[in-house]
Amino acid sequence: MLTLQTLKYKVLLLLPLILIAFFAISANEWISPYCVTYHNIVISLPYILLTVATIFGQAIKQTTSCLTSLLLLGCYFIIQTKLQTPLAIGSNWLIFMLTFILLPINLLLSLSMSNKSLFSRRQLIFLLNVGLQLYTCSYLVNYIEQNSHNFEKNRYFESITDFSPLPLPVIYFYFALILLCVFFIGKRKKVSDVSVFTSLLFSALTSTFFHLSYISSILFSLASCFIILNLIFCSRELAFDDPLTQLPSRRALEDDLKNTGSKFTIAMLDIDHFKKFNDTYGHNTGDNVLKLVAELMRTVRGNARIYRYGGEEFTILFNGKTAHDCTEYLDELRKKIANYKLILRDYEKRPENEDAGVTQRSNTQNQPSVTVTVSIGIADNCKLDDPIDVMKAADRALYKAKDLGRNRISVNTSKVSSPKIG
Ligand code: GH3
Ligand code: MG
Ligand code: MG
Repeated sequence: MLTLQTLKYKVLLLLPLILIAFFAISANEWISPYCVTYHNIVISLPYILLTVATIFGQAIKQTTSCLTSLLLLGCYFIIQTKLQTPLAIGSNWLIFMLTFILLPINLLLSLSMSNKSLFSRRQLIFLLNVGLQLYTCSYLVNYIEQNSHNFEKNRYFESITDFSPLPLPVIYFYFALILLCVFFIGKRKKVSDVSVFTSLLFSALTSTFFHLSYISSILFSLASCFIILNLIFCSRELAFDDPLTQLPSRRALEDDLKNTGSKFTIAMLDIDHFKKFNDTYGHNTGDNVLKLVAELMRTVRGNARIYRYGGEEFTILFNGKTAHDCTEYLDELRKKIANYKLILRDYEKRPENEDAGVTQRSNTQNQPSVTVTVSIGIADNCKLDDPIDVMKAADRALYKAKDLGRNRISVNTSKVSSPKIG
């Protein structure tokens, strides 16, 4: 049966063949000694790279990167088709100014797009808006061309001769937008936003040094390389990180288990009675508890790596340590989670900073709060070689901790199950 998955594979398998067929058909033109030149390669490169970035972005639903690549593609097309004659010609200068004022604004606006398909309503409205801008600008340029034969640059927008064709206010404007973008990136901490920053930076440099040969081709190629690199990082994050807690997922754990050292310990942590918690306080509060537990787990001592194994289960990997070394750290974590009062109403306002959190909690003593406990099973590789067996041993220890009454840790030494601690 032809499913979407098999269709994808078929498209991926066919794509190189289609490309080869395309080049074979147009071979005469490409192989012609007049066309295969350094010039043609440099000019074509941004088209190829930006198309790849757009398709890649769409495939992994990274809308911002996808729109960014499309905007750069459109801008590069305008540069190559309309701006290859001197900017001193009035209409050329107007096209140059409009392009490099509207491009950064649209790049910044693309930050507001959620990661959905390019064909979702919001993204289509964005593209429609860009289309309208293009239409209005081309109408304006045509009108001015037809109605003022000696169109002169506005004296308020004088360029810095020799240094750049771009007027000083526009350079300031670019700087301001780049700073605004950096502010957004710092606030949202999303890897995909970096594409916008890179594009803004390279388009600012292109417009500032527009008089230099091949500047747009070189800088737009570089910008697209960075967008593709960014998309590679994003796809890795999508594959290996859990979106709710931002912790590495089970897939990342399986990967890391292939490269453990000669001595390691695995702990399996499970939230107690979490089903009942969800039923009592709702799934959203349950999600917030998962985020909270993940946050507290990040503070565990002993240089550990934390993973969300699935559902309300987490895994902790200690490299270079025995189960005995880790018991103290894990019991500390168990107590920390059990003692943490989660204020129900104000959870969303909970500060990231621990000190500020303590102050806030002291001010919210009268608000309803909840607590959760966790059980932890621990095993090391002293008597077991295969990491999968160590994990199974940790899982058995976890069930023992549950059987013994929960909110405790249990160590599996693979031969003798240790008594309750904590
Ligand atoms: P035990 O103490 O024996 O571990 O009991 P439990 O209720 O925690 O265990 P059980 O396996 O019966 O239930 C796990 C619950 O975890 C069921 C499911 O609703 C909840 N859960 C799993 N993933 C998520 C999630 O992503 N968000 C929320 N809110 N709940 C989740
Ligand atoms: Mg549970
Ligand atoms: Mg469970």
